[in-house]
Amino acid sequence: MEKNAKIYVAGHRGMAGSAIVRRLQQAGYHNLVLRTSKELDLRNQAAVADFFAEEKPGYVVLAAAKVGGIVANNTYRADFLYDNLMIESNVLEQARVHGVQKLLYLGSSCIYPKMAPQPIKEEYLLTGPLEPTNEPYAIAKIAGLKLCEAYHDQHGCRFITVMPTNLYGPGDNYHPENSHVMAALLRKISEAAALGRPQVEVWGTGKPYREFLHVDDLADACLHLLLHYDGRDPINVGTGEDLTIRELAETIAELTGYQGELVFDTSRPDGTPRKLLDVSRLHNLGWHHRIELREGIRHVLEAAEWHTDAAEV
Ligand code: GDP
Repeated sequence: MEKNAKIYVAGHRGMAGSAIVRRLQQAGYHNLVLRTSKELDLRNQAAVADFFAEEKPGYVVLAAAKVGGIVANNTYRADFLYDNLMIESNVLEQARVHGVQKLLYLGSSCIYPKMAPQPIKEEYLLTGPLEPTNEPYAIAKIAGLKLCEAYHDQHGCRFITVMPTNLYGPGDNYHPENSHVMAALLRKISEAAALGRPQVEVWGTGKPYREFLHVDDLADACLHLLLHYDGRDPINVGTGEDLTIRELAETIAELTGYQGELVFDTSRPDGTPRKLLDVSRLHNLGWHHRIELREGIRHVLEAAEWHTDAAEV
């Protein structure tokens, strides 16, 4: 990929897309094509066709998707399925029509079966039922992955799929109810430490295990795969390491100097007991995460993005 390659990053305002833009710019790629969803509605077939005809990007990173937490996923089930199917179909088809040299599609670890054996290998996809609350989103993301494979098979398109684990870092959503656990606990515990609150509520039993990847590491992995991987098989991207929610809360408490009590609210759901990706394929391709959890958490705590308006969107 030459430094002046024209790269369209779809979804550049999202957490993953913005990190990928930063990483590409840092690596000297300066010919990036970016459109907000207001400027280009990716659900609109004609608009996407016009955009590709006009810009003719050489490379595409598809990080645009309708995303949200468990409540949003379950409430707007039709939107999550329809919007994501349209976005993927339109972008992939136009990438084929215009001979894009390589496309990187971002999947999600929630597309694996709910009860998949751990750690989760890429081949466990479609071997069991999905988590019902986000089934529409997962089905749409699986369709996108299968489209990449099918375009690969039928047309020889170099469309690769990356499956990230739970992400954290700049651009995360810090909404008190709708955020994911890392963002929620970072905000709750650091605010409690600052205000001297005696207790912080942690949802569930604290026993489930989760894996976390800093979004800058995801972006680095995406660049690595854009440069070194052409295969049709999806690639998990994670650290290969996990910890319990209790351990996560204790780590954040330690790093914020929080002295109060962690109270586990067992009326809240635990969700799936463990969700750890098998990252052997990624390691065999020569990439390993760099940002260790404590270091990544320290950076996010320093930035304290929940103090800004961005946390409210
Ligand atoms: P999941 O990975 O899809 O299950 O989604 P989450 O990141 O929302 O939750 C992961 C785990 O963290 C679950 O066991 C939650 O009960 C637990 N958890 C603990 N405290 C919180 C919190 O304040 N917010 C969220 N979202 N999850 C929490």
